[in-house]
Amino acid sequence: MSFFGNAAGNKGKKRDKYKELTLAIKQIVLERAKHRCQECSKKLSGTNSPHFIHINGSKKDNRPENLRAVCPECNEGKSPASDSGTMFSSFKKIFSKS
Ligand SMILES: [Zn+2]
Repeated sequence: MSFFGNAAGNKGKKRDKYKELTLAIKQIVLERAKHRCQECSKKLSGTNSPHFIHINGSKKDNRPENLRAVCPECNEGKSPASDSGTMFSSFKKIFSKS
């Protein structure tokens, strides 16, 4: 109860609106993406539930223009540790040679 009371008191600041990734924001992003993954264009629904990537990397910036809707597969490929990813693939190359 008191939680909601505090939230109402914080109204006024416009940025607070985007502090959390709400259902309403997800809906906007999904509709803009036509309910398709913005990476591979696969349809997002039910079992293929959409994931949301923050374009500028800030998880507190949930403005629709900072979000991309992607499928779970593309979301996994988008791990920030891309350096270790390339290292791993070069390792794999070495090992698969034998
Ligand atoms: Zn995808």
